[in-house]
Amino acid sequence: MTHPIRIGLVGVGKIARDQHLPVIGTSPDYTLVAVASRHGGLDGVPNYRTLPEMLAGEGDLQAVGLCQPPQARFAAALAAIEAGLHVFLEKPPGATLAEVGILSEAARRRGVSLFASWHSRFAPGVEPALQWLSARRIRSVSIAWMEDVRHWHPGQDWIWESGGMGVFDPGINALSIATHILPPFFLTGATLEVPENRQAPIAADLRFTDSAGTPIHAVFDWRQTGPQTWDIRVETEDGTLVLSRGGAALTIDGRDQTLPPEADYRGLYDRFAALIRSGASDVDLNPLIHAADAFLRGERRSVAAFTD
Ligand code: NAP
Repeated sequence: MTHPIRIGLVGVGKIARDQHLPVIGTSPDYTLVAVASRHGGLDGVPNYRTLPEMLAGEGDLQAVGLCQPPQARFAAALAAIEAGLHVFLEKPPGATLAEVGILSEAARRRGVSLFASWHSRFAPGVEPALQWLSARRIRSVSIAWMEDVRHWHPGQDWIWESGGMGVFDPGINALSIATHILPPFFLTGATLEVPENRQAPIAADLRFTDSAGTPIHAVFDWRQTGPQTWDIRVETEDGTLVLSRGGAALTIDGRDQTLPPEADYRGLYDRFAALIRSGASDVDLNPLIHAADAFLRGERRSVAAFTD
């Protein structure tokens, strides 16, 4: 492996511009070689329309970051793996569980690194929360992930289509933190509110428990205007922990904890480079399993049509 890693980016949209390109541009571990996007583009590097065109044009690529919606990721990921490239998957890693399993096996056989990224796990409060909770008995957990879809996802039709996951697109970030800081848990019931003109839920109410019977309740809602809420509250025998602002802030018994600045995507790209160096992969399906279980086990309620 030459250093820096020669990387290409696929799907130049919101998250590619907001996070991937700035981080790749400032990390000593990477050189951006090219981008592939049907409508987006970037000055200063070769632009291709599709991943196969980029693979054909850039013979010395070593890695790709895939920033398309989940429904579009499998074919690109498989082609990149088969071409011998290390692959960084945006979250969620796919539109189905089975397709991600196939990618994992393909990466193992081809000897490349596959990274299913969960950016919220790299929020600064998450590791300190894990450390504090690991020594304590948990009594209950409540998760509130409530935001304004019109503000965060204007004009994104894929998010409302099958495989787009609706409110689970942000909600899976909460699940990625919860599965990291809590003992294993499972879904016991759910209600999914689906706009009558859409395929995916605008809100979800989820009940989980674990082998100790701990109640875990999550509410995801995309209809929240005004202040936005991304909170996980954990009651223990020893006090209350609250992760808020998506993991960027942490209080224990009401006392603010000092945290490093937010650098979630820098953390993701550092991790991807470390995986490549050590010849390993990191594909944790647990957040996607819980989302899939909600679609499998949840009751569906039709609610008012949603228009942008
Ligand atoms: P986006 O801007 O709507 O889409 C990203 C790019 O993917 C688009 O510019 C488009 O590029 C390509 N694309 C869109 N629909 C496609 C389709 N049906 N088939 C093939 N390519 C398609 O979405 P985004 O907000 O960046 O989100 C992309 C992924 O990142 C999602 O999985 C999301 O959960 C994750 N993510 C997003 C955010 C965020 O703040 N938005 C944060 C963290 C993670 P071309 O048309 O030019 O090919």
